[in-house]
Amino acid sequence: MPAHTERTPQAAVTVIGLGPMGRALVSAFLDAGVTTTVWNRTPGRDQELVARGAVSARSAEEAVTASELTVVCVVNYDASDSVLQRPEVTTALKGRTVVNLSADTPGRAREAGAWAAEHGIRYLDGAIMTPTTTIGTPHGVFIHSGPKELYLEHKPVLDALGGTHTHLGEDIGRAAAYDIALLDIWWTSMTGYMHALAIARAEGISAQELAPFAKGIGEILPPSFEEAAVEVDNGTYAATVNPLTSAASTMAHIVHTSEAHGIDASLIRAAEGLARRAIGLGHSGDELTRLAELMGRRG
Ligand code: NDP
Repeated sequence: MPAHTERTPQAAVTVIGLGPMGRALVSAFLDAGVTTTVWNRTPGRDQELVARGAVSARSAEEAVTASELTVVCVVNYDASDSVLQRPEVTTALKGRTVVNLSADTPGRAREAGAWAAEHGIRYLDGAIMTPTTTIGTPHGVFIHSGPKELYLEHKPVLDALGGTHTHLGEDIGRAAAYDIALLDIWWTSMTGYMHALAIARAEGISAQELAPFAKGIGEILPPSFEEAAVEVDNGTYAATVNPLTSAASTMAHIVHTSEAHGIDASLIRAAEGLARRAIGLGHSGDELTRLAELMGRRG
């Protein structure tokens, strides 16, 4: 028997959304030899991909009909709802699988999962934790949640995107919950970095002069994250390294320096305020980890 007749049928996928990330996903699928049908709200964004072998669908309905698996990657769930909930698209999706890699909140992911179940659509939620340049390389990080069997069924096609894929659980909102928590770290850290660069500039230090030292701060973070995670899970906040009184004092120096230069200090002022609140509640001898418990308190 000739070798080609023994091969498994060629994998196929539809990708809805051709922003920078959607295009990166399509590119990786094409590189891996996956038959890829594409559709985007604004026409014309698929030209380069079509030249490389992607199939351009004339409508969202035609796109989702072309493959058993549709990957959606648009700006948010308002956008994905506005495509998937068109009556003709919903009907065409019945019995097929959607993997929604658009970012949004865990609540929106759960609502979308309930909507999909109501309409007989097999549904997985996911998030991409790395930039477009990592897609199709070993460095991409994808997280998924929803029915495990459905995930395993489509994993061979998803693997064409490269990187690591992790199924986090059956709760459809779990991938979005990880995404939000991780993006919280990213955006507050990067905003803190922008504030640091503003202070440095006001003090006559260029961003590039500070950068090597900023990198050093970055390298301290991974072990600190791990130690803090153990303390927060165990509820053991007593200071061994840096009590809140010391942390609040350092934060105040940053506030004062910012204000001396007329630089917006709202971010670090908020952090100092939280530390002082914890101190006021009798936690002066605790580490900063106490704030995770304090911020999570209701009322
Ligand atoms: P955007 O987040 O800017 O999303 C652009 C895509 O969303 C386009 O296809 C756009 O269509 C579509 N879109 C926007 N509004 C609507 C709407 N109302 N109806 C239908 N489609 C709509 O760009 P990305 O491609 O970068 O991101 C896609 C997703 O990937 C986002 O959720 C983002 O958070 C996530 N992500 C992106 C990363 C990155 O590095 N770029 C990294 C990790 C995750 P149109 O062309 O018609 O405007």
